[in-house]
Amino acid sequence: MSAAAAARSILTQLHEVMASRLHPQGKLNQVVDIIGEALDSEVCSIYLLREGVLELFATRGLNQSAVHVTRMAVGEGLTGTIAANVETLNLAQATAHPEFQYRPETGEEKFHSFAGVPIVRRERAVGVLTVQHGEPRRYEEVEIEALQTVAMVLAEMIDNAGLVDAEDAAGSGAAFSEPDTLEGLTLVKGLGAGVAVFHQPRINIEHIVAEDTEAERQRVYLAFDKMREQIDQMANQAEFGVGGEHEAVLETYKMFAYDEGWSRRINEAIDSGLTAEAAIERVQQRTRMRMREIDDALLADRMHDLEDLANRLLRIVSGQIGTAASMGLREDAILIARNLGPAELLEYDKRRLKGVILEEGSLTAHVVIVARAMGVPVLGRVRNARTLIREGNQLLLDADRGIVTVRPSPSLIEAFEMRSAKNRERQAAYAKLREVEPFSRCGTRITVMMNAGLRDDMPNLNLTGADGIGLFRTEFQFLVSAAMPQRERQTRLYRDVLEAAGDRPVVFRTVDIGGDKSLPYLRSENSENDENPAMGWRALRLALEREGLLKSQARALLEASAGHTLNVMFPMVSEPWEFEEARAVFEGQLAFLKKQKRKLPNEIRYGVMLEVPALAEQLDILMPHISFLSIGTNDLTQFLFAADRANPKLAERYDWVSPAILRFIRRVVVATAGHPVDVTVCGEMGGRRLEALALLGVGIRRLSITPAGVGPIKELVRKVDLEEIGEAMNGWLTSPPPSLRKALEDWAGERGIELD
Ligand code: PEP
Ligand code: MG
Repeated sequence: MSAAAAARSILTQLHEVMASRLHPQGKLNQVVDIIGEALDSEVCSIYLLREGVLELFATRGLNQSAVHVTRMAVGEGLTGTIAANVETLNLAQATAHPEFQYRPETGEEKFHSFAGVPIVRRERAVGVLTVQHGEPRRYEEVEIEALQTVAMVLAEMIDNAGLVDAEDAAGSGAAFSEPDTLEGLTLVKGLGAGVAVFHQPRINIEHIVAEDTEAERQRVYLAFDKMREQIDQMANQAEFGVGGEHEAVLETYKMFAYDEGWSRRINEAIDSGLTAEAAIERVQQRTRMRMREIDDALLADRMHDLEDLANRLLRIVSGQIGTAASMGLREDAILIARNLGPAELLEYDKRRLKGVILEEGSLTAHVVIVARAMGVPVLGRVRNARTLIREGNQLLLDADRGIVTVRPSPSLIEAFEMRSAKNRERQAAYAKLREVEPFSRCGTRITVMMNAGLRDDMPNLNLTGADGIGLFRTEFQFLVSAAMPQRERQTRLYRDVLEAAGDRPVVFRTVDIGGDKSLPYLRSENSENDENPAMGWRALRLALEREGLLKSQARALLEASAGHTLNVMFPMVSEPWEFEEARAVFEGQLAFLKKQKRKLPNEIRYGVMLEVPALAEQLDILMPHISFLSIGTNDLTQFLFAADRANPKLAERYDWVSPAILRFIRRVVVATAGHPVDVTVCGEMGGRRLEALALLGVGIRRLSITPAGVGPIKELVRKVDLEEIGEAMNGWLTSPPPSLRKALEDWAGERGIELD
């Protein structure tokens, strides 16, 4: 019998049991027999959550006297582990698993192999279905899939029979009236308050077992058609703009929407006897499980795009209400989701969307890049957010501090409102500084530019009044694309950026990919096997070897800059010859364009990023050849301290404001003095007031920072006497105080300069 036929046979039998007039316990007793028989297993058991504890509700093969007696906490033993992690276990030898616990009353010692799947309702475990047999062998994949399908049917039956209370679902046993603070990872900074709105109002899959398989197949077929139509339409919508980053995202969507493998898997699930809805959900569950096994952030991001589409398909096929976006936000809301697609986020009313909380999410996810451009704070990696937060709960999202408060008390709300008001006041004050030039108290003009990477970042230039774009991270376009961006697409982006900047300078950094910013379409030769990707095959190292990539970027930049000044900067230069080679690629393309009599840039200014300490030892050799130098303190710090910038254990260990870093930067300032070379700091450090003050103290006069930092830094600059801080800093760097941070705080405090 084929796998589909076997599954169908189980489903048909289950269907009969469910339709029978038996009481729920009787039905469960029959179910364990059917499954045990079909999977040739001596034991089949069903555990359900009752009062927050997993209780053996029915078994074939274990001692009947254990039914309603054997109970275990979520997280306890193998069964508890399955419920806690909402994941499948398939073991040849159960006792070898570290979580194994022996329950003498069940008589299970005779059985070696063990497989269990969670019974899931609203993405939480409400029970566990297990099978065991004497022979020590793992269950086959098709058997596990059959179990998972059966678990779906059981979930429906359990719900209909009211066998478990929804409130009982694993992990939701907390008292719901107390304020609760959940922690997460700041993905986009900001504050927001509103009611919790679940992005995906639950779709009720009413029927799991199909009456007519052919009719179900037809329903899925039509739904696919409609979904593809929707995606094509979205791609044509003006709001996404031609050549925008969203276009690249939608290309990924299109790729999945037309993916034959996906529709085939859904059809196979229908073959096994499921309804269209259940089949889509079934395939989605499997995808989710696979995703959990793949420990690759970037690939996981792309998988979320697929989930986004699966949800869309489910909504179409079931004819049920859409996402919270399609119903419209009626009040200020904080959106809760496991993850979101970027296109889904764009469907929300920006005026009412005050924040986003994700159970997953990463800094490089499409959705985060889009949220940043929309100015919506995002907190990611909030574990069990959808369990601990209820629809309609009042929430205070503080993405600055990386926390969200659920059901806040009136005093917490008051304190939060005060902070928000203060924030707004500050923002308004900074906005007023837009036209104000950042002259220091002693009259020196400091250059304050902003960092960008997407077309959507460009409006910030006018909003902040920054002096230009000091770092345009061109790899962002590559990161949000499903395939290598064609040269024409690159040219269009660069041209639009230059146009938006007007007469303000833009420094384009050539792609810094590889390492942690790996691209799926460069995967095979990527540095994923590097033991230390930050020091691996990345940035210019990769670009010089993949000459086609650099050549086409050079052409795109040169063509886009026709009639403008092109400022181009190379990342991760470690030796002067790397710079020379990269420049030669540009000069080669320039010669080609000249021969073609094409319009050329008015001027080309070459620069390098100083992120690798070794380069500092050869600055004198490099200096005559470059127009500018940009100190990338994010990478520089990790290399100076030999401390991975992404390792949370080291995040607090070394301070940016340390004599080592500041002496290093001072040395660079001194080495470049007298040369016609602009020296800028473009790492995150420059966007914080205390750190920026320290940088001014070592002689830095140009900063390129996150747009939100422009106002605060301009304000700081206007209060600082450069000579005074320079002198103080010289003193501290000669004989460092116990805490340089504290010394700077005191110094600023004495002069009434706020550093927060
Ligand atoms: C840096 O390293 O400081 C920098 C600005 O570049 P990125 O953060 O893109 O590596
Ligand atoms: Mg860097």
